[in-house]
Amino acid sequence: MKPTHIEHIGIAVKSLEQAIPFYENVLGLKCYSVEEVKEQKVKTAFFKVGQTKIELLESTDPEGPIGKFIEKKGEGLHHMAFAVENLEECLKETENNGVRVIDKTPRDGAEGLKIGFLHPKSTFGVLTEFCEKNK
Ligand code: ZN
Repeated sequence: MKPTHIEHIGIAVKSLEQAIPFYENVLGLKCYSVEEVKEQKVKTAFFKVGQTKIELLESTDPEGPIGKFIEKKGEGLHHMAFAVENLEECLKETENNGVRVIDKTPRDGAEGLKIGFLHPKSTFGVLTEFCEKNK
């Protein structure tokens, strides 16, 4: 396995409406997409910085993963996503290396990506995502 780049960095926020102006007006980035991912109970907003995206995540349900995260830890860095070329193999390989894998098989993420998460207990505290562009 060899990730090609950091695909995106996920940041949990209480409100997209409140957070977007910081990225647009202070950092000068442009929000190019807002999308709801029902399965994850989040609304996402995307910015691009070079090849890497910033993904802001607002919970649509207090019981969803981002809702619970914010309740426990507050707003902040939520996960880091590596772009990989063969997601299914990467997840298997990682699991075979003794790492706790949350998704044993790829599932659908925002922007039509296939994604899979590794457990932060196995990755030194950083919730780690692999993602692959749909072919
Ligand atoms: Zn992500």
